[in-house]
Amino acid sequence: MGVYHDLGLDPIINVSGAVTRLGGAPMPPPVLDAFRAAADECVPLDTLHGAASRVIAELTGAEAGLVTAGAAAALTLGTAAILTGYDPSRMERLPHCAGFPDEFVVARDQRNGYDHAVRAAGARLVEVGMNEVIAGAGVRRVEAWEYAAAFGPATAGVLYVLDPEARPPLAEVAAEAHAAGLPVLVDAAGELPPRSNLRDVLAAGADLVCFSGGKAVRGPQATGILCGRRDLVGPAALQMLDLDDHFDLWDPPPELIDTARLRGLPRHGIGRGMKVSKEQVVALVTALRLFVSGAYDAELPAMRGHLEEVAAALAARPVRCRLVMPADGQSPPVLELTIDEAVLGRTAVEVCRRLRAGRPPVYPGHGGVREGRLTVNPLHLTGERTRLLIGRLQEELTSDGPAAR
Ligand SMILES: *Cc1c(COP(=O)(O)O)cnc(C)c1O
Repeated sequence: MGVYHDLGLDPIINVSGAVTRLGGAPMPPPVLDAFRAAADECVPLDTLHGAASRVIAELTGAEAGLVTAGAAAALTLGTAAILTGYDPSRMERLPHCAGFPDEFVVARDQRNGYDHAVRAAGARLVEVGMNEVIAGAGVRRVEAWEYAAAFGPATAGVLYVLDPEARPPLAEVAAEAHAAGLPVLVDAAGELPPRSNLRDVLAAGADLVCFSGGKAVRGPQATGILCGRRDLVGPAALQMLDLDDHFDLWDPPPELIDTARLRGLPRHGIGRGMKVSKEQVVALVTALRLFVSGAYDAELPAMRGHLEEVAAALAARPVRCRLVMPADGQSPPVLELTIDEAVLGRTAVEVCRRLRAGRPPVYPGHGGVREGRLTVNPLHLTGERTRLLIGRLQEELTSDGPAAR
């Protein structure tokens, strides 16, 4: 019946999208074929990373790129690279940074669970700005001068979490950082699409950018990309690669690692536990090419069709359906279900719990569940899954009737 059934598990209907918690995005057949083919032969891993770097550079405009074990790993490795540069003794000491700059300046309203990945390398975060807008106590966001005011002898770099609403704009923050000789590490993990961000984030002044490979790019779930300045991507690669070799035998790809800047071969670095397999590298590069080609756009009309079918099937239920079409023309549409909890006699949280507990289990988007809203992301939908989904939604969006209440 399938690998999950063999393990005693029921496959779910994932209508949350490419979330890690539910296994990420579906890999297209060419990506799976590439993964399989890569397993058939061996190449030295550093050489393979050099080839992947060339492809990433071509597709992003970066000087160099590294396939990482996810965007979170890219954040750790990018931080490590900024902390150490090509100094093997600093690499050896991470995550302890006694004796060299270790502070990353970050806007208070950009702090989030992923900054653990930055601290994991040994960096300390220094917050700037206030959170007045969320507090309802003011109208101003963080301002560029506040970054400059926080820079000092212990500052190693700037962390910036990209979002269309992020303020101040990246270009302003980068200008302040560069005036002080500091690099900017950008978390743009989920900021694809639009495809243009692959180039625009670097063009706006980022020194290193982290993207997820397992979200919209549809590479293996546990992949990501770190790209940007060659003199930083090199030290990041060094701290991830297995370095059990002799310096005089070792011949890494020069486009990725500048051996002239090394006084010796470092040992396994802080990123050794974030290694990426040859199959993952090849599959990610394949997926990135597909993503950049615009091939995924062709699926958008069918996705919209699935959502319209769901909305039509819920017409008589106590739920308001709204089809949200992202303006970029590249992201999947989403169906928003706003539940009339009073009429249904059940909260959206309860509906969500029942959807997960039923057969087959259904996992809708739950970002607005406390406000009575569930979302349906069509990334994983097929005709068959759409029919099953409709059946489950109709069941759980049917009121038990006055007698039962
Ligand atoms: C998803 C995400 C990450 C983590 O990406 P992975 O590829 O799963 O490691 C980091 N930062 C942000 C903002 C994200 O949305």
